Amino acid sequence: MQFPTRLYLVPTPIGNLQDITLRALSVLKEVDTILAEDTRTSSKLLKHYQINNTLESFHSFNEHKKLIGLMERLKNGETMALISDAGTPSISDPGFLLVRSCHENQIPVECLPGPTALIPALVNSALPSDRFVFEGFLPPKKGRKTRLEEIKQESKTIILYESPHRLLKTLEQLSEVLGGERKASVSRELTKLHQETINGTLSELIDYYKKNTLKGELVIVIAGK
Ligand code: SAM
Repeated sequence: MQFPTRLYLVPTPIGNLQDITLRALSVLKEVDTILAEDTRTSSKLLKHYQINNTLESFHSFNEHKKLIGLMERLKNGETMALISDAGTPSISDPGFLLVRSCHENQIPVECLPGPTALIPALVNSALPSDRFVFEGFLPPKKGRKTRLEEIKQESKTIILYESPHRLLKTLEQLSEVLGGERKASVSRELTKLHQETINGTLSELIDYYKKNTLKGELVIVIAGK
């Protein structure tokens, strides 16, 4: 099957290798080149699905440098797929610059629907899912306080990505700014063997994570004001 010239953004599993669509697999098989955030991580996924296709690195340290060359190749009819280490490219991962550049150069882009960590975390949280904001990672230092103050004013459910070593500090800061009684949720290791979701107030979550494991990838979901 011949795929039309374009850039495909292909979501890949966030843990469980079975979470990939049939169409994602066929796009990854058929495109001329797969751009991958980490070729070693992605080659394991491709090997699992017996896909032998060309992998080329595309990550936050080389994306600016590679843009012009990639645009030329796409204009010349090469078809490409972009994948990140996990989940949907461009969601707290490289992708946005490439998509914008394709748009500016009239190159069609198609993002396939598929895995991303924020949606299962939101639904697991039991907090209102009709209106929500995705804040990605909080800035580690500069701008962090301002962002926390903005979150304080937010009436929609708020979703944050966070690393395990910062979880407690972030929950404590959220509790200081929003109050310990604010409802929240932490979803850890989604789709993996030891996945868990803990729902409670910010104070309850702080108590829990002082006593329990702080390993694995996680998403914080917070009730709006
Ligand atoms: N592009 C990815 C997506 O669509 O979700 C996000 C990539 S970002 C670099 C990595 C962050 O996503 C982690 O720090 C964590 O907050 C979240 N994440 C990824 N996989 C996860 C999982 N299995 N369970 C919980 N959170 C996860």
